[in-house]
Formats: sequence, structure tokens, C-alpha cells
Amino acid sequence: MGAAATELRGELRGLVAQHVPPEYLGAFTDDPADLETAQEFCRILAERGLLCPAWPEEYGGRGASVWEQTAVREEMWAAHEPRGAQYMGVNWVGPTIMRHGTGEQRRRHLPPIARGEVIWCQGFSEPDAGSDLASLRTAARRDGGGWLVSGQKVWTSYATMAQWCFLLARTSRGERRQQGLTIFLVPMDDPAVEVRPLGCLMGPHHLNEVFFDDLRVTEADVLGTVDQGWKVVQEVLAFERVGIARYARCEHLLQAAPEVLGDAWERLPGELRVRWARMLVHCRRARLLAYRVVALQDEGRVRPGDAAAYRIAVTRLDQESAEVLMDIAASVPREGEAARRFRAEVADHWRYSHASTVASGSIDVQRILLARALLGAS
Ligand SMILES: Cc1cc2nc3c(=O)[nH]c(=O)nc-3n(C[C@H](O)[C@H](O)[C@H](O)COP(=O)(O)OP(=O)(O)OC[C@H]3O[C@@H](n4cnc5c(N)ncnc54)[C@H](O)[C@@H]3O)c2cc1C
Repeated sequence: MGAAATELRGELRGLVAQHVPPEYLGAFTDDPADLETAQEFCRILAERGLLCPAWPEEYGGRGASVWEQTAVREEMWAAHEPRGAQYMGVNWVGPTIMRHGTGEQRRRHLPPIARGEVIWCQGFSEPDAGSDLASLRTAARRDGGGWLVSGQKVWTSYATMAQWCFLLARTSRGERRQQGLTIFLVPMDDPAVEVRPLGCLMGPHHLNEVFFDDLRVTEADVLGTVDQGWKVVQEVLAFERVGIARYARCEHLLQAAPEVLGDAWERLPGELRVRWARMLVHCRRARLLAYRVVALQDEGRVRPGDAAAYRIAVTRLDQESAEVLMDIAASVPREGEAARRFRAEVADHWRYSHASTVASGSIDVQRILLARALLGAS
């Protein structure tokens, strides 16, 4: 990515070292201390124009290249995403509003994301609509000049802390289930919205149920065209999938292993070190697949098949590297701060890796999307 990106990476590493405590493992929890770290760090990045560098200046960016944005993303994920929940606003909420929002929606929503002030959640999945998202039942029914939304979402990350929800609801029934779906941008502090946390391995309140009981929305809350939300959803998911740069996290942990083990590294079984080296190659492969999607996005193109290919590679990497790292961590010395931290980071990585092939669309669905793209089917 060139000298500018190297300099940028140096600056970001310096900021992480200065402002993110070494024990920060908070990308997926809502521990108040981690949340405060993430909020503060987003403000620090925003002040330096590093939160959304590739956005146009009028929306709070500085018109930098998508490759600089990619460098930011990689450095953040390597450091366990100190932007916390706000990575979602930067990665897919903002770009989607930029592509499909009205002038008023862009002015209203983009600058607060670029200033690092706002958390969004994604209201797509439902108890009976995950992989088969188009079968969702949350409905918006016409009422006067607007709609009333009722229904239930589930697995909604960050819903307890989000101020806004990117909500998908049914507004009509067409010939195909994918027709008649509409995206609404809705506030989470409305009394008609109730959030109930769900316990999970990734932290007590990472996942949630969200209930909508006659939430009133208007034309101004619709993103894009009424009944035409499905195409936007495909774009959202492509942006989201490539925005999760887990290969950077895997590479960071793998690279740290020989240093933490010291002399013990040479005593590891040769077979384990071969698996470790293979994982580093996998990191490179996932990175290159991500770069292909980024290059397409730079040309204004979004191809779900390419995003799926990346997602398959990176989620497999998450799981396979977690197993290798757990085996290596078993040989880490019991004493010492660096060893303790490495073990904690590896355990955290291993916990996350189980969700990796489900979150943001299961790996089976990614394989179907890739196959369809390769076969030229819609
Ligand atoms: C950590 C995490 C965070 C998440 N955050 C959010 C969020 O913020 N917002 C949100 O809306 N959702 C979120 N989700 C939900 C996620 O998008 C869904 O879990 C995912 O789409 C799968 O849906 P499901 O859980 O209903 O499983 P199902 O769709 O019921 O799938 C169950 C199993 O069947 C397989 N399967 C399903 N259909 C097929 C098929 N046609 N062919 C082959 N196999 C198939 C799947 O691969 C899976 O193994 C999150 C999930 C996780 C794990």
C-alpha cells in the first residue's frame, strides 16, 4: 500500500499503545470500561481524521483512498478492534447511507458516525429468519402518512448500547419473498423499542433480542425505496463481510507466539510449527481476497460472490488458527505478564472463532452465494 500507509500504520500503532490498555479485549462485550475505552478512542481517531479517512470531507472524512481506510481497519482488528461497536457504522452503515440515503439522511447520520459519537445496530435476523432472511415477519403497516412497525429481531449485536437501528421490515408482499422489504433507520430510545440481552460466550450482553411494538416511522426514515430493500441488504452484507478484518487479528496473534514462548518455541513439536506457518499463509490468502473486494468497491462495484469468497477464507482461518494457537498457548510459560496476556488473548480468539462461521451469514450460505456467482445464477 506504499509509504503513506506504512506511516499511517505507525501512527495508529502509536495511538493504540498510548490510549488502549493492554488488557482491552472489548470488541465484543459491553463491559463499561471497554465501552468507555472504545468511545474515547473513536473520538481520538476522529479528531485526527483517522476514523473515516476515505469518506468525503462534507461528511466528516478527508477524501483519502480506500487503501488507507483498509490500513486503518487492519490495524484496528489487529489490536482487537478498539473502535468497539462503532466499526459497524464506519464499515457498512455509513457507506450504505452514502450510496442510498437522501441528502437529509446523509447530513443527519454521516457526520456523527465520522465524529465517533454514535453506535448503530443491525436489525435483520429473526427467530425464524436467519439464513433465509427474506422470510422475516417484522412488518410495517401503513398508518396515516407513515407506518407502524411490530415484530421481533434476535442476535442483535450491541443493541443495548446502540442509539440507532438499521431495521429491515416487510412493507408488502410481492411475487417473490425478496420483494416488499424496506429498510428503516430508527432510534433505539423510542418507548416502542425493547431490548432484552441474551447471554453468550462472547460476553454477557453482546447479543440481544429486540422487540418493536407499534413503532411509528415516517417516509423520512426509509432508506432507499419502499419495498426495494433487498438489493440494499445485499450491499450491506458485502460491505459488512469485508469490513471484519479478522485476518489481521489472526496474524497478530500468530506473530506474537514465538516471541512470547522465547526458548520454548524451539522445543515445540515440528508438526505444530508447520501448522503455525500454514496459518500465516492462510492469513495472506484471506488478506488478498479482502483486497479484491476493496478494489471492486473502489470502482463503486459490490459483488456478493467475492465478499463470500473472502468470508469463507477468513472464518475458516479464525477457527483453524484458534486451534493452532490453543495448542501453542498450552506451552506458554505460566509466569510473566506477557504470557498471561497472550493466553487471555488466545482464549478470547478461540471463544469468538465459534461464532465466526455463523455471524454475518453462515459459512454454508457463503458457499451458496459463491457457487451462484461462479455459475452465473442469480
Ligand atoms: C456473534 C453473532 C452476531 C450476530 N449479530 C447480528 C446482528 O447484529 N444483527 C443481525 O440481524 N443478526 C446477527 N447475527 C445473526 C446471524 O446473521 C445469523 O445467526 C445467521 O445469519 C444464521 O442464521 P440463524 O442463526 O437463524 O441460523 P439458520 O439460518 O437457522 O441456520 C442453521 C444452520 O443451517 C444451515 N443452513 C441454513 N440454510 C441453509 C441452506 N440453504 N443450505 C445449507 N445450509 C443451510 C446454516 O449454515 C446453519 O449451519 C449474529 C450472529 C452471531 C453468531
